[in-house]
Amino acid sequence: MRPLLRTFVFSFLICLVSSQAAAQTRKGKPSNAQLADPKLERRVEELLKRMTLAEKIGQLVQYSATEGPSANTAGTTAALNVNPPAPGGVDSYALASKGELGSMLNTVGQGITNHFQHAAVDHTRLHIPLLFGADVIHGFRTIFPVPLGTASSWDPELITSLAHMAAVEAKTAGVNWFYSPMVDIARDARWGRCTEGAGEDSYLGAAIARAYIRGYQGDSLSAPGSVAASVKHFAAYGAAEAGREYNTTDMSEIQLRQVYLPPYRAAVEAGAATIMSAFNSLNGVPASANPFLLQTILRGEWGFDGLVVSDYTAVMELTHHGIALDAAAATTKALKAGVDIDMMSHYYDAELPSLVKSGKVSAATIDEAVRRVLRVKFALGLFDHPFTQGAEVTHAVPDHRPLAKKAAEESFVLLKNSGGTALLPLSKNKNIALIGPLADDSNDMVGAWSGANNFGDVVTLRAALREHARQNNSTLLYAKGTDISGNSEAGFAEAVTAARSSDVAVLALGESSDMSGEAASRAHLSLPGNQEKLLETIVATGKPLVLLIFSGRPLVLDWAAAHVPAIMEVWYPGVETGPALVDTLYGDVSPSGKLTMSFPRAVGQEPLYYNQLPTGRPEQFPDPAHPGYVEMKYVSKYLDVPNDALFPFGHGLSYTTFAYSDMKVSASSIGISALMRDQKAHPLKASATVQNTGHVRATEIVQCYVSVLGASIEQPVRSLKGFTRVTLDPGETKKVEFALGFQELSFYNFESHAVVEPADYTVWIGGSSTAKDSAQFKTRP
Ligand code: BGC
Repeated sequence: MRPLLRTFVFSFLICLVSSQAAAQTRKGKPSNAQLADPKLERRVEELLKRMTLAEKIGQLVQYSATEGPSANTAGTTAALNVNPPAPGGVDSYALASKGELGSMLNTVGQGITNHFQHAAVDHTRLHIPLLFGADVIHGFRTIFPVPLGTASSWDPELITSLAHMAAVEAKTAGVNWFYSPMVDIARDARWGRCTEGAGEDSYLGAAIARAYIRGYQGDSLSAPGSVAASVKHFAAYGAAEAGREYNTTDMSEIQLRQVYLPPYRAAVEAGAATIMSAFNSLNGVPASANPFLLQTILRGEWGFDGLVVSDYTAVMELTHHGIALDAAAATTKALKAGVDIDMMSHYYDAELPSLVKSGKVSAATIDEAVRRVLRVKFALGLFDHPFTQGAEVTHAVPDHRPLAKKAAEESFVLLKNSGGTALLPLSKNKNIALIGPLADDSNDMVGAWSGANNFGDVVTLRAALREHARQNNSTLLYAKGTDISGNSEAGFAEAVTAARSSDVAVLALGESSDMSGEAASRAHLSLPGNQEKLLETIVATGKPLVLLIFSGRPLVLDWAAAHVPAIMEVWYPGVETGPALVDTLYGDVSPSGKLTMSFPRAVGQEPLYYNQLPTGRPEQFPDPAHPGYVEMKYVSKYLDVPNDALFPFGHGLSYTTFAYSDMKVSASSIGISALMRDQKAHPLKASATVQNTGHVRATEIVQCYVSVLGASIEQPVRSLKGFTRVTLDPGETKKVEFALGFQELSFYNFESHAVVEPADYTVWIGGSSTAKDSAQFKTRP
């Protein structure tokens, strides 16, 4: 149940937001040419002049269709979330009809959206259309893998295509605004929402953020297949302490700028029309009332012209954070900080009329927020085409399935494949024992935030293997074995018998889809219930065993890694789960995914990420003759597990092998002034040759990492600065080159400026964050 408690506490709290913050002027260079268009601006100003205060405040107000008595009178609604009724019996349809509603949440379906749009457009004085925002995160009807899965493809083009596909489908159901992409950097696997993002790295996260914006918004926001994106959750929500949902984040400004902000910034620079402010507090100031984030950085430095929507009831939650004693104070702080639309707190409509009247909120502050909302509506073309026409997409579209299958295949990460000769791929006629609670489970295959999916659209692994067995005259035995979270061993015997009667056991184990996503933090990262016991029992049969892990986050797989010959992380693959897995298990497709989050050996290592800062007592100097030698007992380490990840960032195997050679940089020294002068140039080239040394055509994700020594501020042991997908035939070689310049070589100093200093750089090129091939160069004045 969502927290919708309204706190009515009498108070005379004086708003402490600085006057600079209140002056919501556009300072930076506009981030989005479409929103900064002078013609559009004229239309905005003309309309603004004609609006009453009530109409203006209405633009900042959001309700859902389930609120109010007359809401559901036309068409069907597929509410993506169940939203509780509004306080005081507010009727959202009546509000729309008065021109006092600006947008609706998770109200989906052509009938219901047109019904409300007619109220807003036909029944009102100024005919201002509604925005319909929804959580379309990884597909609308055709569900593709969860975002952490598609991120493992390291394939921005694929992500753009999927995002566009989701927009095209959702547009037919009246949705014109997506609360996506979620670009929060996640370094802690305990945090359930890591499933919604691209993982732990800001360089990759930025590339993927751009890909989503391009897919959602296309070349023009007003194109038929475009929706406005809402980049969330601004900012640093993923750094919640201890991985506990909604928890505090506290970090240096350098870390904020260098690690957490780049994906949001990339999305804004790619033209994102809207931003969602986060739930968490950052350095003591809740993000949804944080002028430093919303004014100084977002609007000031980045020139963001679009609108900011709060996260769900985040305005109300300012009272829980303890920085507002009542609804009036929360409203004042959020709006003055730069939250234009109040998502579901219902504070703005209740409080703003009297706050304006009493002069606590100025008319100019209201106007600026309304301008931002109108700008997005004009840019979307809603004033010209407010209604949705044509056939509504109600199921996974057959024509969209091949792309969903490709996405699933590219998302799989082969973590381990050994056992003398590699166990995978399987030969086609092997008799299989399919075991485990996720083997025939369509509901969990779509993962968290599964759009407006229909579970019946999912092809499970069991269904696809059954079809494969039929076509290949092999036998498929199936035993569930246990439940995802159960403790009963009643099904173990059947599973053992199935394994013993087959050539290979394929185990489908993992989390249920609701164990990741919002409000799904876990303190234990092991397989839930007694699944590990089931795994041990099947391993004890001595049958060759392939373990498929379905999860929305990295799990601790230390026992499995030591005892199971083949392990593949398959996330939640979406509607094409079964076909994608079967083609991968049997080698029609070679796995190519690479991890975008480190898999720990033990939960106590979290937060765990590859690009850590160095310590004064690293593990790497075991040689007493080395000048930096520290006795092993006193280095930075745990007593019980090694420091490194069990499966590191960037790791992922293939059915072939790749070899790297000829690692080079184009210069041994590079001038800083040239780098600073042209910050878009990439004067240095780092290259290596990659060869497919195995027997099948396959794709390698080649990665480029950089480290900096000798700078004024310590830098990560290595950081990703380039990647590319390379497909090679057996024996084929290719030279891969990465271009490096200011963007890749700079870092933030204490004055919050990106700089390059005289320093020694090392570049690595290889197939994971533990790549060995390296070359050096220096930056010099
Ligand atoms: C989530 C957002 C989501 C919103 C609307 C919130 O609880 O944090 O990510 O967009 O609800 O459903």
